[in-house]
Amino acid sequence: MSSTIIESIYARKILDSRGRWTIEVDVYTCGGFGSAAAPSGASTGEHEVVSFPDGDVEKSLIELEEVVIPELEFWDAASQDLIDTLLKEIDGTDDFSNIGGNAATAVSMACAKAAANSCGMPLYLYLGGSMASYALPFPLGNIIGGGAHAKGTDIQEFLAIPIGALDIESALATNIAVHSRVKDKLKAAGKLAGRGDEGAWVADLESELALKMLKSSCDEVTGETGVDVKPCLDVAASEMWDEKKEKYIFKRDGRELSREEHIEYIQSLIDEYGLYYVEDPLDENDFDGFAALRKDALICGDDLYTTNVTRIEEGIKRGSTNAVLLKVNQIGTLTDTYHAVKAAIDSGQTPVMSHRSGETTDETIAHLAVGFGCPVIKTGVVGGERIAKLNELLRIAEELGPERARMAKPPI
Ligand code: PGA
Ligand code: ZN
Repeated sequence: MSSTIIESIYARKILDSRGRWTIEVDVYTCGGFGSAAAPSGASTGEHEVVSFPDGDVEKSLIELEEVVIPELEFWDAASQDLIDTLLKEIDGTDDFSNIGGNAATAVSMACAKAAANSCGMPLYLYLGGSMASYALPFPLGNIIGGGAHAKGTDIQEFLAIPIGALDIESALATNIAVHSRVKDKLKAAGKLAGRGDEGAWVADLESELALKMLKSSCDEVTGETGVDVKPCLDVAASEMWDEKKEKYIFKRDGRELSREEHIEYIQSLIDEYGLYYVEDPLDENDFDGFAALRKDALICGDDLYTTNVTRIEEGIKRGSTNAVLLKVNQIGTLTDTYHAVKAAIDSGQTPVMSHRSGETTDETIAHLAVGFGCPVIKTGVVGGERIAKLNELLRIAEELGPERARMAKPPI
């Protein structure tokens, strides 16, 4: 019997970094083992698949144990597309509302990991094939966090990307330096209000003042280390958009902007602060609003796309973005995530592999970023569930060796 044939599968509840329950799945094959856990979002997109049926993890576990697991025994873990199709067939809806997208995600990723392990390969190598380039992604790290993740700034995430780093170790060290520089500045200004869901600082500040502080910290760290590090934003604008008023509401700042004023404001922030990357600058249904922003920065769709190929193709057609965020549990399977990456790459978009605000110590996305050829990975700076992915990148680099472990080509 082939070493990748599934012998048994176990599913269990585990805690995520917010202390909420999620699902972990172990897959044992004749010749190997793989385990994966699904994360959870807080500022989830309206077009994502359902994480748990009726929000109930227990229901998802029952579906797994009674229906999914008995079906999958003796399947070949290496037939990823068949397994992922079966998961969708068993569910019977187009949004995983029966078995739950998190259950599907954990099964899908655990099968891939078990198949890789049974073939004696790390996951990135198994996914990338022998022709993959294995470049290390630039880590996009959350430095100041508010929005749906903490009571602080209106804009959800103020991030840094060490785009001048020559190796992954200095890339990680550069983000840490920005993170601690911002802490010093917030403390000195009496504005430090703790740490948010993703390990970013919570700042009792207007969004633009937080951005000023991030920008000056990036500039100082660049000056001191010689590694160019640039400021970035995840506006998560769907959380600010008031459908009735047709305005973007900055609650903390006491401002309300029309769609046109908001587009102008975001463009002015990009220009004035030299932003490298801006995620979800507009509401998740405003494809044309995204298109209005100049593409000399990376303009990335998260809630806009929800890792859904049909929505990505719509955005490509309308010129909405030049980057696509990828979260496996937004769509529920590894195969569909791969199709989303491929749609992005084939149309010249930059694929960005991403964590979620509620994470586990699962390290899979480090392998997905390298194996799928994503030049950027968004996965925080500090915190056990964030460094699980960052440290895995260090291990991958070590395994590749100094000759091959080079950084990806900067997307812009
Ligand atoms: P999440 O959001 O809370 O849905 O994971 C993170 C993000 O918007 O990128
Ligand atoms: Zn986002």
